[in-house]
Amino acid sequence: MPTTAISLTPTPKRVQYDAIIVGARCAGASTALLLARAGLKVLVIERRPYGSDTLSTHALMRPAVLQLSRWSLLAPLLEAGTPLIETTTFHYGDEEIAIPLDSGPDLPGLIAPRRTVLDRVLVDAARKSGAEFLHDMAVADLFADTSGRVRGVEIRGAGAASLRVSADIVIGADGIGSLVAKCCDAQVLRAGSVSAAHVYSYAPVESGAGYHWYFRDGIAGSLIPTNDGLACIVASVPTRLFDQHFRADHARARMEVLEALSPAVAVQAGRAAEDARLQAFRGVPGYIRQAYGPGWALVGDAGFFRDPITAHGISDALRDAEGLARAVLDGSEAAFAAWQRGRDVFANQILDATDAVASFDWTLADIGERHRRLSAVMKAEVQALAGEEMPSHTLPAARRRPAARRAPANDTSPPVAAGSITQRNRMRMRP
Ligand SMILES: Cc1cc2nc3c(=O)[nH]c(=O)nc-3n(C[C@H](O)[C@H](O)[C@H](O)COP(=O)(O)OP(=O)(O)OC[C@H]3O[C@@H](n4cnc5c(N)ncnc54)[C@H](O)[C@@H]3O)c2cc1C
Repeated sequence: MPTTAISLTPTPKRVQYDAIIVGARCAGASTALLLARAGLKVLVIERRPYGSDTLSTHALMRPAVLQLSRWSLLAPLLEAGTPLIETTTFHYGDEEIAIPLDSGPDLPGLIAPRRTVLDRVLVDAARKSGAEFLHDMAVADLFADTSGRVRGVEIRGAGAASLRVSADIVIGADGIGSLVAKCCDAQVLRAGSVSAAHVYSYAPVESGAGYHWYFRDGIAGSLIPTNDGLACIVASVPTRLFDQHFRADHARARMEVLEALSPAVAVQAGRAAEDARLQAFRGVPGYIRQAYGPGWALVGDAGFFRDPITAHGISDALRDAEGLARAVLDGSEAAFAAWQRGRDVFANQILDATDAVASFDWTLADIGERHRRLSAVMKAEVQALAGEEMPSHTLPAARRRPAARRAPANDTSPPVAAGSITQRNRMRMRP
């Protein structure tokens, strides 16, 4: 009997999108959600499986919770069993400073959803709004037209032939090692010089626990209550200390740091299940990259990275997703320039405040002041976010110039002479 080969590899439904986003975690899925809600045709490509975990703890700060609340996603996160956190306690040596959360209707408490929960909720909401997702597929390259404007991506799935898909803008939400940043030769606007290592695992915690941040000379740690009755318990040290003392035995070195920080948190960490997996991040110095160019933009860690010690990466990703969505919907060069300027106002302050903690050059007498500086930046962030309208097509149709409709990006002729961006970079041509 004759057989017909059926392809089980998912493929994009269109050949041309308003926006293609590389990476479907907090930055990519949020940007997709906001653009799809505003009516754009969006394709998101993610090389990891739907609902998978990633190397990240997940304490959300006030700006992130406010964003999720504005996007109506707090309810699904709480329904997924994410506990509300109502106090934050700073442990400076033996001193404890407990700070109750100043809650309000948009901010009933802080939350620290597992990335398997947060990223999935964002993807589900974006999909519901019409965004298309291809998981388990990787973007292998970008292509450009003869003027150097990015025109789309080349996708590769497991065992599948590569496929070109076009878009008016390609957004790199592809994290620290961003392929989009590399292909587009995104300039580093600022490079940090310090980094810290973070080693964490999960252990049971009593309900109602708050965030705990621990500091003692040269070491730090945290306890972050999350889903499934567990807390993420983290030991943080300068990267050079990690290289000297952690390499041989991560688990023992982590326990020694936790015991030095607080015997109570070490006992808590000791309650972990025998098969609880230990995760280690050696550290990467912070950076701020150029945020956009012709036909491309970067969001989340792809554009701005700060050490995890201040737990601000997800807040940054959500804030910048909203700013970028506004720029894409406006479509003008001025809107992208304004978005990058606004991003950098916060990015520079957050990088300053984060490096001041990740440097580990503080004493127990002055670390509190460094935290107060970060808190002041977050207060300003919350105020700025609360004053913003949700991204939408607010301009009259005649004045509206979303990226999707701008020449040359909207030129519907196929990218005949398009060259690979990596090839273009090798030829040292500028975008
Ligand atoms: C150890 C650690 C602890 C942290 N703790 C916190 C914390 O407590 N609170 C907080 O707010 N932040 C924390 N952060 C920071 C936070 O994890 C990041 O800021 C956040 O994940 C950035 O999200 P993103 O979507 O930009 O990138 P990512 O989460 O890195 O996602 C990028 C995605 O792009 C995909 N991708 C990459 N290249 C391709 C390609 N070519 N094709 C297809 N897909 C691709 C990847 O598979 C990945 O899923 C921590 C980070 C680390 C490392």
